[in-house]
Amino acid sequence: MHLGIRQTIAVAVLLACGSHLPLATAQSGGSLRFDEETGRDLSNYLPHRDFDHTHMVLELDFPDFEHEARATARCSLTMTPIGTPRDTVRLDATAYPIHSVTLGGRELRYVYDGEELLITLPRAVPLGNSITVVIDYELAPEHMVPNGKALSWSPPTRRPSDPGEEVPMLHSQGQPDDASGWFPCYDHPLERLATELIVTAHDGFEVVSNGELLSREVQPDGRVRWHWDQKLPHAPYLVSLVIGKFDVVDVGGPATARPGLTMPVYGPVGLGDRMRDVFANTPDMVAHFEKLFDEPYPWAKYSQAIVRDFAAGAMENTSATTFFPFASAAEPGSIDNIIVHELVHQWFGDLVTNKNWSHLWIQEGWATFGEALWEEEAARQDAINAGKDDTEAAAAARRAYIRQMRGNFRSSAMGGTRTSAPEDPALASNLWNTPDLNFMKPNNPYARGACVLHMLRERLGDEVFWRGMRLYLDRYKFDAVESNDLRNVLEEVSGESLERFFDQWVYRAGAPKADVELDWQPAFEDDDDGPGTLTITLRQVQTINADNPAYAMVVPMYCRFDNGSGEYLYLVTEEREASVSARLDRAPDEVRVDPYYWNILEARITRDLDDPESGNEEEAVEFE
Ligand SMILES: [Zn+2]
Repeated sequence: MHLGIRQTIAVAVLLACGSHLPLATAQSGGSLRFDEETGRDLSNYLPHRDFDHTHMVLELDFPDFEHEARATARCSLTMTPIGTPRDTVRLDATAYPIHSVTLGGRELRYVYDGEELLITLPRAVPLGNSITVVIDYELAPEHMVPNGKALSWSPPTRRPSDPGEEVPMLHSQGQPDDASGWFPCYDHPLERLATELIVTAHDGFEVVSNGELLSREVQPDGRVRWHWDQKLPHAPYLVSLVIGKFDVVDVGGPATARPGLTMPVYGPVGLGDRMRDVFANTPDMVAHFEKLFDEPYPWAKYSQAIVRDFAAGAMENTSATTFFPFASAAEPGSIDNIIVHELVHQWFGDLVTNKNWSHLWIQEGWATFGEALWEEEAARQDAINAGKDDTEAAAAARRAYIRQMRGNFRSSAMGGTRTSAPEDPALASNLWNTPDLNFMKPNNPYARGACVLHMLRERLGDEVFWRGMRLYLDRYKFDAVESNDLRNVLEEVSGESLERFFDQWVYRAGAPKADVELDWQPAFEDDDDGPGTLTITLRQVQTINADNPAYAMVVPMYCRFDNGSGEYLYLVTEEREASVSARLDRAPDEVRVDPYYWNILEARITRDLDDPESGNEEEAVEFE
């Protein structure tokens, strides 16, 4: 998911306030870890998974879509028991009237409290056997309020910025746990199943879902029945449904960088040509990431639909991304970062999925990191098109990439330095009071996740990093992962121990804050232009205690001389204070701390050389 304006402001306020108040105060006593009164552990753990769900057919019939948010629904779930023969099926299902539950046409007994549907089977299902449970239920207007959760049925509107304005529109949003708001399921990302959607609605509306369109048939009453089939398994939160009137343009095609993949864009009526321009780079992006990941785009098509009342920026539903309405007003190129973000999720998120929301950072970090990878590629292409040679193009690409990463490092340092272990949620953490807030914590899965991936890339080097990531995708495709799965693969390909790296950047809240002192001693007294010794001392000033030991870091220090040349000193530290000294031919003009972001570090130079320009400034990126 790409956060929208609302959430971005919320994160900014959260960080600017210097606290994580909204997260903490929702709990009695302020702790996310335990209830002070009862002592109960408040951490989040996945519930047991008794059955492996393998296939769902979801039939939704909208008798009068144009006027009313109402549908009769039938969910046929095929499943096989895990671990032992089982006679009870437990499903998440949020507050819709259930008419019947059947197995092979036979009514089953069930208990339903509006959150959990407990079905009693006539006998235990043996291991290796499958059953298909059929649940008939009803979705009424109160289950489709346009709040951007589960199903949103947006009434007609005439606001000019909205697409398909004079007729209703419907879209789904399952992440993180709202799939069960429109169909019964095990509503956790660990589950993975093939899904079919069979939807009947008025003629004249487009119905878009995951996978490929098997059929579109006009019914005797004139309505149209659409049958979408997502053959390859995906998580329930990625099941998508969009119904509306759209201009549909295919930005793919044989003349693009990625022939053979259809890429329809569903945009506002009358704005088809504009949508073609706004989403024009999609084929180039698909081709680039297929090459980079050494893994073909996994799904049958790639559709992008602009919908009303969308609660975030965009959502990476499998093969069928949805976008917020402002996408229709975007200038071509101006939302490429969001387009890239959702596209990268098709691999990192949809093909390989976090086991639970504790490990959300792997997929949001990758999607955010992907934005920088696209900046890198686009800058390289621009340079080549402008007649630059490979070396110049590589330098331009590197500058664009680092420039894009800079914002992630700044916000990560800002969020991180305001938190510490053990109370604050780390990047990977099961401390949250609603899964929604997991997306907005100060140790943020988007920015900090991207920073961790960048730091791993810098540390391991491109060759090893990409070999590791390709192995990771290959090993875990169509599977669920947690943070250590990524660590293990990168350790396997690099031979490096990454335990400490993951402990301090992934599993522990916080970030280092450092005071840096520079000292120059000329070799000969009063010889300001001659050789001398530069000593750089770095003092970690964040909270350091038993739960928050000093960070282990290698901090590059770039010394720039007045003739434009430069030299790196590497300060290696794992204690409160550390220094590095070097004899140099002359005093540097300036020293830049960690110019390529090897660490999520907030550093300030507290004792400078005479040159007031010294510091970790933005122009650091301009130097190689
Ligand atoms: Zn995302």
